[in-house]
Order: sequence, then structure tokens, then C-alpha cells
Amino acid sequence: ASHNTDANCIFCKIIKGDIPSFKLIETENVYSFLDIGEKAHTVPTRCGSSLTPGFLFEGPIAKGHALAIPKYHGAKLHDVPDEHLGEILATLKKIAIAQGVENYNILQNNGKIAHQVVDHVHFHMIPKPSDSDKEG
Ligand code: 5GP
Ligand code: ZN
Repeated sequence: ASHNTDANCIFCKIIKGDIPSFKLIETENVYSFLDIGEKAHTVPTRCGSSLTPGFLFEGPIAKGHALAIPKYHGAKLHDVPDEHLGEILATLKKIAIAQGVENYNILQNNGKIAHQVVDHVHFHMIPKPSDSDKEG
């Protein structure tokens, strides 16, 4: 299938293979990979949105932080046709099962004010390790 692409988009370059990524699952319409910032940043500055009261992560983003994106380039959720969207959640579900994570957040940011940095729709799967997971 041919997809809408943007030659200047970092995630379109990842889909093409022009920028390397740690690929997890790829299908005709969806690409998923590990987030490059797995531990590099703390979340309150990124995801402590006033639009989601009480939704504040603590500490570094977890190991296993994954992203799933439509191959169809759209900057925001409303730019992507419906038929490209459903499989993204199914992909994140597979990744969560494969990683064996019990606690995790699915997050999708639209617009700078809402903490979107990369203008190609992407869904985060952010594992939330329990205290016992963190030991050892
Ligand atoms: P946003 O804040 O836009 O929802 O999240 C963008 C995410 O993309 C960030 O978590 C960031 O770490 C990740 N990211 C940005 N550039 C790259 C890249 O080149 N490779 C990978 N794997 N992730 C990236
Ligand atoms: Zn793109």
C-alpha cells in the first residue's frame, strides 16, 4: 500500500529505514519501535499536562517504552484516516503482552501545548514497573 509521507519527518525516515530504530512489530500500516529516550528524561516536564488532571508520571520513563505509529503520515490524530488507527492499539497490546508488563500507560499527545514534540502521530506504551520490578 502507498501511504502519505513527509520527506522531512523523522518518523517517516524511521519507517523507510533511513534513520535506524529498534523495531518491535511492523505490518502493512503500522510500525512500532522503542522510544530513543527510554530513560533519558523525566516525565513531569513532558506529560504532566494540565489537560489530564491527576495524570502525572513519577521518575524516569520506564525501560521498554515503546512507540507505535501509522505509516500514513499525519501530524495529529485527526489528520489520520480511521482505517489506519485501530491496528495501532492492537500493536501496543501485543507489545505489552510480549514484554509481560502488568502496569502501563498508553499516551498520545497532539500539539505543542499538549507536549507533542514529533509531528507524526504516535502512541506511547510506557511500562510502569512495580517496586518489586525495580529491585535487583
Ligand atoms: P511526544 O512528546 O511527541 O509525544 O514524543 C515523541 C517521542 O519520540 C519522545 O518520547 C522521544 O524520545 C521520541 N523520539 C524522538 N526522536 C526519536 C528517534 O529518532 N528515534 C526514536 N526511537 N524515538 C524518538
Ligand atoms: Zn511522518
